[in-house]
Amino acid sequence: MTDSSNKKLQGKVAIITGGASGIGEATAHLFAQHGARMVVIADIQDQLGHQVATSIGIDKCQYVHCDVSDEDQVKNMVESTVQKHGQLDIMFSNAGTGSSSDQTILELDLSGFDKVIKINARGMALCVKHAARVMVEKRVKGSIICTGSVAASQGRKVFTDYCMSKHAVLGLVRAASVQLGQHGIRVNCVSPSMVATPMSCDALGMDAEQVEKISESSSSLKGVVLKVGDVANAVLFLASDDSGFVTGLDLKLDGGT
Ligand code: NAD
Repeated sequence: MTDSSNKKLQGKVAIITGGASGIGEATAHLFAQHGARMVVIADIQDQLGHQVATSIGIDKCQYVHCDVSDEDQVKNMVESTVQKHGQLDIMFSNAGTGSSSDQTILELDLSGFDKVIKINARGMALCVKHAARVMVEKRVKGSIICTGSVAASQGRKVFTDYCMSKHAVLGLVRAASVQLGQHGIRVNCVSPSMVATPMSCDALGMDAEQVEKISESSSSLKGVVLKVGDVANAVLFLASDDSGFVTGLDLKLDGGT
Protein backbone atom coordinates (compact mmCIF):
# COMPACT_ATOMS: atom_id res chain seq x y z
CA MET A 1 0.00 0.00 0.00
CA THR A 2 1.05 3.60 -0.61
CA ASP A 3 0.88 5.84 2.44
CA SER A 4 -0.68 9.25 1.85
CA SER A 5 2.63 11.17 2.12
CA ASN A 6 4.01 9.17 -0.82
CA LYS A 7 1.05 9.72 -3.10
CA LYS A 8 2.28 11.24 -6.34
CA LEU A 9 -1.00 11.98 -8.14
CA GLN A 10 -3.12 13.44 -5.35
CA GLY A 11 -6.29 15.00 -6.80
CA LYS A 12 -5.37 14.41 -10.45
CA VAL A 13 -7.77 13.39 -13.20
CA ALA A 14 -6.34 10.84 -15.66
CA ILE A 15 -7.45 9.02 -18.78
CA ILE A 16 -5.92 5.65 -19.64
CA THR A 17 -6.73 4.20 -23.04
CA GLY A 18 -6.50 0.43 -23.29
CA GLY A 19 -7.04 0.37 -19.52
CA ALA A 20 -9.15 -2.78 -19.52
CA SER A 21 -6.15 -5.10 -19.78
CA GLY A 22 -2.39 -5.54 -19.46
CA ILE A 23 -0.20 -2.44 -19.03
CA GLY A 24 -3.19 -0.06 -18.95
CA GLU A 25 -4.98 -2.05 -16.26
CA ALA A 26 -1.86 -2.18 -14.05
CA THR A 27 -1.38 1.56 -14.51
CA ALA A 28 -5.01 2.31 -13.61
CA HIS A 29 -4.55 0.51 -10.28
CA LEU A 30 -1.28 2.32 -9.59
CA PHE A 31 -2.70 5.77 -10.44
CA ALA A 32 -5.62 5.16 -8.05
CA GLN A 33 -3.23 4.01 -5.29
CA HIS A 34 -1.32 7.25 -5.80
CA GLY A 35 -4.34 9.38 -5.04
CA ALA A 36 -5.71 10.17 -8.50
CA ARG A 37 -9.15 11.69 -7.97
CA MET A 38 -10.54 9.95 -11.06
CA VAL A 39 -9.07 7.44 -13.50
CA VAL A 40 -11.11 7.10 -16.69
CA ILE A 41 -10.49 3.84 -18.52
CA ALA A 42 -11.24 4.06 -22.24
CA ASP A 43 -11.35 0.77 -24.08
CA ILE A 44 -13.47 -1.38 -26.37
CA GLN A 45 -13.59 -4.44 -24.08
CA ASP A 46 -16.64 -3.32 -22.10
CA GLN A 47 -16.96 -6.24 -19.72
CA LEU A 48 -13.29 -6.20 -18.73
CA GLY A 49 -13.28 -2.40 -18.49
CA HIS A 50 -16.24 -2.41 -16.09
CA GLN A 51 -14.55 -5.16 -14.03
CA VAL A 52 -11.36 -3.11 -13.68
CA ALA A 53 -13.33 0.02 -12.69
CA THR A 54 -15.31 -1.95 -10.10
CA SER A 55 -12.17 -3.53 -8.64
CA ILE A 56 -10.59 -0.07 -8.21
CA GLY A 57 -13.84 1.47 -6.94
CA ILE A 58 -16.39 3.39 -8.99
CA ASP A 59 -15.85 6.52 -6.89
CA LYS A 60 -12.25 6.59 -8.22
CA CYS A 61 -12.47 4.87 -11.59
CA GLN A 62 -14.90 5.04 -14.47
CA TYR A 63 -15.09 2.92 -17.61
CA VAL A 64 -15.99 4.55 -20.93
CA HIS A 65 -16.39 2.70 -24.22
CA CYS A 66 -14.14 4.41 -26.76
CA ASP A 67 -12.57 3.18 -29.98
CA VAL A 68 -9.43 5.32 -30.16
CA SER A 69 -9.36 5.19 -33.95
CA ASP A 70 -12.66 7.12 -34.16
CA GLU A 71 -12.20 10.87 -33.72
CA ASP A 72 -15.77 11.57 -32.54
CA GLN A 73 -15.50 8.91 -29.85
CA VAL A 74 -12.12 10.22 -28.62
CA LYS A 75 -13.34 13.84 -28.60
CA ASN A 76 -16.52 12.90 -26.71
CA MET A 77 -14.61 10.76 -24.21
CA VAL A 78 -12.10 13.54 -23.45
CA GLU A 79 -14.71 16.32 -23.32
CA SER A 80 -17.10 14.32 -21.13
CA THR A 81 -14.22 13.61 -18.72
CA VAL A 82 -13.59 17.34 -18.37
CA GLN A 83 -17.31 18.10 -18.04
CA LYS A 84 -17.76 15.51 -15.28
CA HIS A 85 -14.49 15.90 -13.41
CA GLY A 86 -13.51 19.53 -14.07
CA GLN A 87 -10.20 19.03 -15.88
CA LEU A 88 -7.74 16.59 -17.38
CA ASP A 89 -4.23 16.38 -15.90
CA ILE A 90 -2.91 13.14 -17.40
CA MET A 91 -3.50 11.29 -20.67
CA PHE A 92 -1.92 7.84 -20.87
CA SER A 93 -2.45 6.96 -24.53
CA ASN A 94 -1.71 3.27 -24.39
CA ALA A 95 -4.33 1.37 -26.43
CA GLY A 96 -2.77 -0.63 -29.18
CA THR A 97 -2.97 -3.74 -31.25
CA GLY A 98 -0.40 -6.31 -32.32
CA SER A 99 0.80 -6.98 -35.83
CA SER A 100 -1.78 -8.25 -38.31
CA SER A 101 0.51 -11.18 -39.22
CA ASP A 102 4.18 -12.14 -39.13
CA GLN A 103 4.76 -10.58 -42.55
CA THR A 104 7.97 -9.11 -43.91
CA ILE A 105 7.83 -6.23 -46.40
CA LEU A 106 7.74 -8.86 -49.19
CA GLU A 107 4.34 -10.15 -48.10
CA LEU A 108 2.93 -6.95 -46.59
CA ASP A 109 -0.86 -7.16 -46.62
CA LEU A 110 -2.26 -3.63 -46.81
CA SER A 111 -5.64 -4.34 -45.22
CA GLY A 112 -3.92 -5.65 -42.09
CA PHE A 113 -1.45 -2.77 -42.28
CA ASP A 114 -4.29 -0.20 -42.39
CA LYS A 115 -5.93 -1.75 -39.31
CA VAL A 116 -2.72 -1.60 -37.25
CA ILE A 117 -1.86 1.94 -38.33
CA LYS A 118 -5.45 3.07 -37.69
CA ILE A 119 -5.27 2.07 -34.01
CA ASN A 120 -1.58 2.44 -33.15
CA ALA A 121 -0.74 5.63 -35.05
CA ARG A 122 -4.02 7.43 -35.86
CA GLY A 123 -5.52 6.46 -32.47
CA MET A 124 -2.49 7.77 -30.57
CA ALA A 125 -2.55 11.03 -32.55
CA LEU A 126 -6.25 11.54 -31.78
CA CYS A 127 -5.76 10.94 -28.05
CA VAL A 128 -2.81 13.34 -27.89
CA LYS A 129 -4.68 15.94 -29.97
CA HIS A 130 -7.86 16.00 -27.90
CA ALA A 131 -6.11 15.75 -24.53
CA ALA A 132 -3.81 18.62 -25.49
CA ARG A 133 -6.72 20.76 -26.70
CA VAL A 134 -8.56 20.57 -23.36
CA MET A 135 -5.33 21.06 -21.40
CA VAL A 136 -4.51 24.19 -23.41
CA GLU A 137 -8.09 25.48 -23.08
CA LYS A 138 -8.13 24.95 -19.29
CA ARG A 139 -4.50 26.11 -18.91
CA VAL A 140 -3.54 22.81 -17.30
CA LYS A 141 0.18 21.99 -17.36
CA GLY A 142 -0.63 18.36 -18.01
CA SER A 143 1.35 15.25 -18.76
CA ILE A 144 0.74 13.10 -21.84
CA ILE A 145 2.38 9.69 -22.06
CA CYS A 146 2.19 7.36 -25.06
CA THR A 147 3.05 3.68 -25.14
CA GLY A 148 5.68 3.08 -27.76
CA SER A 149 7.79 -0.07 -27.85
CA VAL A 150 11.38 -1.05 -28.38
CA ALA A 151 10.06 -1.62 -31.93
CA ALA A 152 9.82 2.19 -32.17
CA SER A 153 13.58 2.48 -32.55
CA GLN A 154 14.75 -0.84 -34.00
CA GLY A 155 14.07 -2.89 -37.10
CA ARG A 156 12.19 -6.18 -36.90
CA LYS A 157 12.63 -9.39 -38.90
CA VAL A 158 8.81 -9.61 -39.15
CA PHE A 159 5.79 -7.55 -37.92
CA THR A 160 6.53 -4.69 -40.38
CA ASP A 161 3.20 -2.94 -39.78
CA TYR A 162 3.62 -2.94 -35.97
CA CYS A 163 7.21 -1.71 -36.23
CA MET A 164 6.12 1.15 -38.52
CA SER A 165 3.20 2.07 -36.26
CA LYS A 166 5.46 2.35 -33.20
CA HIS A 167 8.00 4.49 -35.10
CA ALA A 168 5.04 6.79 -35.79
CA VAL A 169 4.29 7.01 -32.05
CA LEU A 170 7.82 8.21 -31.39
CA GLY A 171 7.49 10.85 -34.13
CA LEU A 172 4.21 11.99 -32.60
CA VAL A 173 5.76 12.31 -29.14
CA ARG A 174 8.76 14.24 -30.45
CA ALA A 175 6.65 16.66 -32.52
CA ALA A 176 3.96 17.19 -29.84
CA SER A 177 6.54 17.73 -27.07
CA VAL A 178 8.17 20.53 -29.06
CA GLN A 179 4.80 22.08 -29.96
CA LEU A 180 3.15 21.87 -26.52
CA GLY A 181 6.12 22.95 -24.40
CA GLN A 182 5.00 26.59 -24.65
CA HIS A 183 1.83 25.59 -22.76
CA GLY A 184 3.78 23.73 -20.07
CA ILE A 185 2.41 20.40 -21.31
CA ARG A 186 4.90 17.52 -21.25
CA VAL A 187 4.73 14.66 -23.77
CA ASN A 188 6.75 11.49 -23.26
CA CYS A 189 6.84 7.87 -24.31
CA VAL A 190 7.36 4.56 -22.48
CA SER A 191 8.87 1.85 -24.63
CA PRO A 192 8.79 -1.61 -23.10
CA SER A 193 10.39 -4.69 -24.54
CA MET A 194 8.31 -7.84 -24.45
CA VAL A 195 6.08 -8.12 -21.39
CA ALA A 196 3.48 -10.82 -20.76
CA THR A 197 -0.01 -9.46 -21.51
CA PRO A 198 -2.94 -10.83 -23.52
CA MET A 199 -1.51 -9.02 -26.59
CA SER A 200 1.97 -10.55 -26.45
CA CYS A 201 0.63 -13.99 -25.50
CA ASP A 202 -1.79 -13.90 -28.46
CA ALA A 203 0.86 -12.64 -30.88
CA LEU A 204 3.28 -15.42 -29.97
CA GLY A 205 0.69 -18.13 -29.27
CA MET A 206 2.30 -18.70 -25.85
CA ASP A 207 1.34 -18.49 -22.19
CA ALA A 208 2.70 -15.78 -19.87
CA GLU A 209 5.52 -17.94 -18.52
CA GLN A 210 6.80 -18.75 -22.02
CA VAL A 211 6.61 -15.08 -23.05
CA GLU A 212 8.62 -14.09 -19.97
CA LYS A 213 11.30 -16.68 -20.77
CA ILE A 214 11.77 -15.21 -24.25
CA SER A 215 11.75 -11.68 -22.85
CA GLU A 216 14.43 -12.48 -20.28
CA SER A 217 16.64 -14.30 -22.77
CA SER A 218 16.76 -11.23 -25.06
CA SER A 219 17.79 -8.72 -22.36
CA SER A 220 21.25 -8.03 -20.92
CA LEU A 221 19.89 -8.07 -17.37
CA LYS A 222 19.61 -11.60 -16.08
CA GLY A 223 17.40 -12.82 -13.24
CA VAL A 224 14.98 -9.94 -13.79
CA VAL A 225 11.76 -10.21 -15.78
CA LEU A 226 9.83 -7.22 -17.08
CA LYS A 227 6.30 -7.12 -15.61
CA VAL A 228 3.37 -4.83 -16.35
CA GLY A 229 3.92 -3.26 -12.90
CA ASP A 230 7.40 -2.10 -13.99
CA VAL A 231 5.87 -0.34 -16.98
CA ALA A 232 3.19 1.21 -14.75
CA ASN A 233 5.93 2.55 -12.44
CA ALA A 234 7.65 4.21 -15.40
CA VAL A 235 4.35 5.75 -16.48
CA LEU A 236 3.76 7.01 -12.93
CA PHE A 237 7.17 8.71 -13.00
CA LEU A 238 6.32 10.46 -16.29
CA ALA A 239 2.82 11.39 -15.09
CA SER A 240 3.97 12.88 -11.77
CA ASP A 241 5.94 15.96 -10.76
CA ASP A 242 8.98 13.70 -10.28
CA SER A 243 9.59 14.18 -14.01
CA GLY A 244 8.61 17.87 -14.04
CA PHE A 245 11.46 18.92 -16.40
CA VAL A 246 11.25 15.86 -18.67
CA THR A 247 9.61 16.10 -22.08
CA GLY A 248 10.17 14.43 -25.45
CA LEU A 249 11.74 11.41 -23.74
CA ASP A 250 11.49 7.85 -25.00
CA LEU A 251 11.88 5.94 -21.72
CA LYS A 252 12.95 2.44 -22.70
CA LEU A 253 12.28 -0.52 -20.42
CA ASP A 254 14.44 -2.99 -22.27
CA GLY A 255 16.82 -4.47 -19.71
CA GLY A 256 19.72 -3.10 -21.73
CA THR A 257 18.76 -5.07 -24.85
P1 NAD B 1 -3.38 -5.75 -23.93
O1 NAD B 1 -3.97 -6.52 -25.06
O2 NAD B 1 -3.38 -6.36 -22.59
O3 NAD B 1 -4.03 -4.30 -23.83
C1 NAD B 1 -4.32 -3.53 -24.96
C2 NAD B 1 -5.67 -2.87 -24.71
O4 NAD B 1 -5.92 -1.96 -25.79
C3 NAD B 1 -6.82 -3.89 -24.68
O5 NAD B 1 -7.60 -3.72 -23.52
C4 NAD B 1 -7.59 -3.56 -25.94
O6 NAD B 1 -8.98 -3.82 -25.84
C5 NAD B 1 -7.30 -2.09 -26.11
N1 NAD B 1 -7.57 -1.64 -27.47
C6 NAD B 1 -7.19 -2.25 -28.63
N2 NAD B 1 -7.69 -1.56 -29.68
C7 NAD B 1 -8.40 -0.52 -29.17
C8 NAD B 1 -9.14 0.54 -29.75
N3 NAD B 1 -9.28 0.66 -31.09
N4 NAD B 1 -9.71 1.45 -28.93
C9 NAD B 1 -9.58 1.35 -27.58
N5 NAD B 1 -8.91 0.36 -26.97
C10 NAD B 1 -8.31 -0.57 -27.77
O7 NAD B 1 -1.87 -5.45 -24.40
P2 NAD B 1 -0.71 -4.59 -23.73
O8 NAD B 1 0.52 -5.35 -24.00
O9 NAD B 1 -1.03 -4.12 -22.37
O10 NAD B 1 -0.69 -3.33 -24.73
C11 NAD B 1 -0.69 -1.99 -24.30
C12 NAD B 1 0.26 -1.20 -25.17
O11 NAD B 1 1.60 -1.67 -24.93
C13 NAD B 1 0.04 -1.31 -26.67
O12 NAD B 1 0.17 -0.02 -27.26
C14 NAD B 1 1.19 -2.20 -27.12
O13 NAD B 1 1.56 -1.97 -28.47
C15 NAD B 1 2.28 -1.78 -26.16
N6 NAD B 1 3.40 -2.69 -25.99
C16 NAD B 1 3.19 -3.96 -25.53
C17 NAD B 1 4.29 -4.80 -25.37
C18 NAD B 1 4.13 -6.22 -24.89
O14 NAD B 1 5.09 -7.02 -25.02
N7 NAD B 1 3.00 -6.58 -24.33
C19 NAD B 1 5.59 -4.34 -25.66
C20 NAD B 1 5.76 -3.04 -26.11
C21 NAD B 1 4.65 -2.23 -26.27
